[in-house]
Amino acid sequence: MRDICQQFIDGHWRSSYGGRCLDVIDPYRETVIAKLTAGDARDVDASVRAARQALPAWRRLSGEARGQYLEGLADGLADQHTALCRTISLNGGKPLAESQLDVDDAIACYRYYAHLARQLDACQGEPSAQSVAGVEVRRYFDPVGVVGLITPWNFPLVTAAWKIAPALAAGCTVVFKPSEVVPVPEQAIADIAQTIDLPPGVLNLINGDGPSIGEALTQHTGVDKISFTGSNPTGESVMRAAATGVRNVSLELGGKSPIIVTEDADIAQAAYLVMNGIFANAGQICSATSRLLVHQAIAEDLYAALSQHIDALVMGDPLDEATTLGPLVSDKQRDAVSRYLAFAKDEGLIPVREASHREVPRQGFFVAPTVFRDVPVESRLWQEEIFGPVLCARQFASDDEAIAIANDSDFGLAASIVSGSHEKAADIARQLSAGSIWTNMDQLAPPQAAWGGGKKSGIGRELGPEGLSAYQELKQVMAPS
Ligand code: NAD
Repeated sequence: MRDICQQFIDGHWRSSYGGRCLDVIDPYRETVIAKLTAGDARDVDASVRAARQALPAWRRLSGEARGQYLEGLADGLADQHTALCRTISLNGGKPLAESQLDVDDAIACYRYYAHLARQLDACQGEPSAQSVAGVEVRRYFDPVGVVGLITPWNFPLVTAAWKIAPALAAGCTVVFKPSEVVPVPEQAIADIAQTIDLPPGVLNLINGDGPSIGEALTQHTGVDKISFTGSNPTGESVMRAAATGVRNVSLELGGKSPIIVTEDADIAQAAYLVMNGIFANAGQICSATSRLLVHQAIAEDLYAALSQHIDALVMGDPLDEATTLGPLVSDKQRDAVSRYLAFAKDEGLIPVREASHREVPRQGFFVAPTVFRDVPVESRLWQEEIFGPVLCARQFASDDEAIAIANDSDFGLAASIVSGSHEKAADIARQLSAGSIWTNMDQLAPPQAAWGGGKKSGIGRELGPEGLSAYQELKQVMAPS
């Protein structure tokens, strides 16, 4: 495991111009596992110049050749699978089984965009499907150019893959800034790029925090597009920065997703899906279904089933295969979630079980898994993204009431429905405002299906063909026919 995170610019690892050193923490042992030397505006400038220089040759390369490099990145991750899972769990605190999903989904994403890259050559210059009398219209898909990619800590390899893979497939060159909180797994991507002889400058990785390099990257007018995943306050400042020079921006931001359990739902299935929806990765998932709407006729049964599941959660060392609930990623995140538990006390919210009934381990940034019932819609806990293992529940009397409450949110990222009738679930899904909706199934985000939300959950889509389009400029060439 890399214990010093520096700058990967123009095909080489080098020390940072910026000299500030940040500690990278293991959130279970509360120890320093690596050092990160934060870059500054000079590192950003060097990486943007390298990406600019590499752009003409990279975009000229055939889609077939770019696809081969993407397969190489996927193979490199697959070769290091076991080590990467351990690194993700060590640095991010998620149980090993969840780290495996991070690596597997990242590999699948590189392979999927390798496949789309190979198809690109055949699409270039295709006649438009819309006929114009007397005019021939041909369509070309140019890369947007040099792109700045900024990611959060909760799925370090996946959130990176969702951006890097389509950007490279489209013919863009990349300056990637991983989160400073969980940066260690992502360094492997630059190592693999070096191993597979990806041309220098095509993929640059710069380390640092928001003030040291995130801002400098978004403000650099040599960057043609910014794709950002993270919190809403940061997303707003990224969007402001992108306004200078009228630059393209995609935003994947927060969520407060509902899970609706209808009267005819199977309690065991509902309890399983509700648990996974909020306690996977200790609730630190943008699409976490953190608002439970359950039909009043089955609410008590569901709460009882949830209590049993919570009792069965194993809190402990993320590297121990028995662990099912790890610590939060940092002391800062633990404190932020704990503040919501204090608001809950002030608001008089009632836990389904006493929040304190599960003792948390003494070591590690743990918060007890908690379910509040009868939460008023005005409550801060109902409205705001908590990003921790805290579920807010309330009952409903009719499906129309559930739909109205579910849609009454600033966010529109995802939703889940558990119902005894697939037709009813599909009907409710059509009426919800969310980018991804799961009916009677776990939360899946396969690379073939677009991801992203409306309202304050962001702008644009990742994954699927739409994820590739996000890094392309459509060019139409017209001639008399
Ligand atoms: P964050 O906004 O604190 O940081 C995200 C990234 O932005 C980090 O790399 C950080 O260094 C960088 N950054 C910070 N300030 C910056 C600035 N001023 N300019 C440019 N970059 C800056 O978010 P986080 O705490 O790392 O992640 C949690 C958030 O991410 C949650 O709100 C979650 O919902 C969201 N998220 C969304 C999705 C999605 O697909 N919609 C996926 C994962 C996480």
